[in-house]
Amino acid sequence: MQQHFDEGALVAVMTTQPLDRALDYRAPEGGCLTGAFVEVPLGPRKVVGVVWGAGEGGYDLSKVRSVIRVLDAVPMRDEMREFLVRAADYTLTPLPAMLRLATRAPGLGDPPSMRKVYRPGDRHPDRMTEPRQRVLDTLAEYGGLSFTLKELAEQAGVSTGVIKGLVTQGAAAEEDSPRDTPYPRLDPERPGMTLADDQATAAASLRERLATGRYGTTLLRGVTGSGKTEVYLEAVAECLAQGRQALVLLPEIALTSEFLTRVQARFGAMPAEWHSGVTATERRRCWKMVGEGGAQLVVGARSALFLPYRDLGLVIVDEEHDTSYKQEDGVLYNARDMAVLRASICGAQVILASATPSLESWANVEAGKYQKLELTSRFGDAVMPEMRAIDMRSEDLPGAQWVSPTLREAVQQRIDRGEQALLFLNRRGYAPITLCRACGHQIGCDQCDARMVEHRFQKRLVCHQCGETKPIPTVCPNCEAEDRLAPVGPGVERLAEETTALFPDARVAVLSSDLFGSARAMKAQIEEIAQGGADIIIGTQLVAKGHNFPLLTLVGVIDADLGLQGSDLRAAERTFQLMRQVAGRAGRSEKPGLALLQTFQPEHPVIRAILAGDEDGFWQAEAAERKAAGVPPYGRMAGIVLSSTDVQEVFDLGTAMAHQDDPLRRIGAQVFGPAPAPIARIRGRHRVRLLVKADKAAPLQSALAAWVGQFKLAGQLRLSVDIDPQSF
Ligand code: ADP
Ligand code: ZN
Repeated sequence: MQQHFDEGALVAVMTTQPLDRALDYRAPEGGCLTGAFVEVPLGPRKVVGVVWGAGEGGYDLSKVRSVIRVLDAVPMRDEMREFLVRAADYTLTPLPAMLRLATRAPGLGDPPSMRKVYRPGDRHPDRMTEPRQRVLDTLAEYGGLSFTLKELAEQAGVSTGVIKGLVTQGAAAEEDSPRDTPYPRLDPERPGMTLADDQATAAASLRERLATGRYGTTLLRGVTGSGKTEVYLEAVAECLAQGRQALVLLPEIALTSEFLTRVQARFGAMPAEWHSGVTATERRRCWKMVGEGGAQLVVGARSALFLPYRDLGLVIVDEEHDTSYKQEDGVLYNARDMAVLRASICGAQVILASATPSLESWANVEAGKYQKLELTSRFGDAVMPEMRAIDMRSEDLPGAQWVSPTLREAVQQRIDRGEQALLFLNRRGYAPITLCRACGHQIGCDQCDARMVEHRFQKRLVCHQCGETKPIPTVCPNCEAEDRLAPVGPGVERLAEETTALFPDARVAVLSSDLFGSARAMKAQIEEIAQGGADIIIGTQLVAKGHNFPLLTLVGVIDADLGLQGSDLRAAERTFQLMRQVAGRAGRSEKPGLALLQTFQPEHPVIRAILAGDEDGFWQAEAAERKAAGVPPYGRMAGIVLSSTDVQEVFDLGTAMAHQDDPLRRIGAQVFGPAPAPIARIRGRHRVRLLVKADKAAPLQSALAAWVGQFKLAGQLRLSVDIDPQSF
């Protein structure tokens, strides 16, 4: 309950500072409510905090300081506070660190600032051009609304110069308005597409569940192109019609603009957007409007879960299996799981959409916790591509080349037919290894236990762990031999070089996240490719995630074995998902698709399962293995990473922790390690990892807290707990 505290009353304020509890203050003039965002003195500083409840008292109260002021923001709702507390408990994160995720509002509490907005003007432009006409049409259509320059330019599809020109001529008017205005209204009553039967059935089920106003999670499974997005937009429509807010989480910022366009087509306006690529001003508006109800729909990255929704009714996690939902630094949480927690607290529905669901979600369906809805065929006439292996052992391929004759011929066929081919290689840069042919030395990062990767477009070596770069040396840093350093292995840049040589007349485009200066540039290139602006697309992981290239009929996977190396128990699942996902890029329209997987081990069970397309069979086999090993999703795991600049220090503590494991034994949990972490050194800090494995029902968090609590972190030591680690 939101309680009011009168001036001078003792209140407990939770700040985002690294303290382990709330601090007592006196309520300011005018009093304050529970949940109020406040500014308080802390030592010599002023910090932001949230009124958590009544103060504790019971000590000398004469020294208690007063809240400086209550900030101009809707007080944090009880359900948000409950979410933060439970998320902190689950991830074993201190509450202040969790609270920080919920207070990431640029300029929180600052007075409203002004900005320029645009409305129809009263004159005619001297000369009418098509872009000008589009601007005027947009302004006329959305008459009552005032657009910012950027919004108007985007909505009308023109450059900002066109708008400025119209203003000069009085054909559009520019005026000041408060920055934080409500978003244009989305109209849930606008008719969507006519749904196919299985889509309609799924949509009806989702609408029904939303109508209950209660929590529930649905796994929406269907191959790429089966029309899942269309179905969940129906659920969004239902949610908006109820007057509640909806959130769509996407795994990759690069996908947002395509999705926003789709929302606009469906509901007639752009939704709010929340991710690291959004300007501070827009983020501020989003945060505020979500809290006040001026945003009906938010499309964003995982951190959008921490926005202060007034009434959240629906959360969609698109591509729910995607590993990027796991936040891997700072607070370690999986946005998919936190979405379910958030929704269960506020009575919202969750839709987990995927062509290749995670084993976790499968298990939850099996256990009866999630409902499952399936779309069994591709929408319209499109069919899932045929999948075939290319056995690299019998391909005649010279060294330092990666496109086999078989694949080359298939690509040539597409080019001849005016179709597109995608060559997939999940490796950024030119070559993963720079090797000295005189002494065998491989150039590594000075700060990390990682190789430096040559990026030829940048003309530098780059560490993919810490981002450090250095010039490509001509002399070996180890043996000082001159001109003996050579690139070894392929990256997308090198593959592009080979492809250009093989197909000199083809237009080759490379899609890799590091090759774009901005999201806008990436969007532009993706659109151009979709319209046929390239014959061959070379791409990393980025292309696997949901872009729609209608002319694409062939996918060639350069190295299907890449993800199967190493000892990670999740490798099979990841490879299976990625290969199915990439293959799904082919044949999304009328033309049938083909996926060719280059592999040295076509008889590997995972490769065979991928080729057979037998997802249920694969899942059952994987599930059986995980059950037998007692690992997630059939058991619980936590990873404890210790790091320090001093390697001895980390191993000593790791060893001590492995020995003093009584709290864990009491719940029947086991400790493995210490062992070097998957990346043993990052930014000069040595890292070791202990893995803890427990029964599904065991109270893992409390045991971990008791166990970790026995040790003091002296010197340079740092410890982080990762519940449900990505790799084990
Ligand atoms: P998914 O999300 O499963 O990949 P989408 O919802 O993106 O599938 O649908 C794939 C393609 O089919 C899109 O281009 C979409 O516009 C189209 N589509 C889906 N459902 C329909 C429908 N009922 N009527 C017409 N086109 C549809
Ligand atoms: Zn590095």
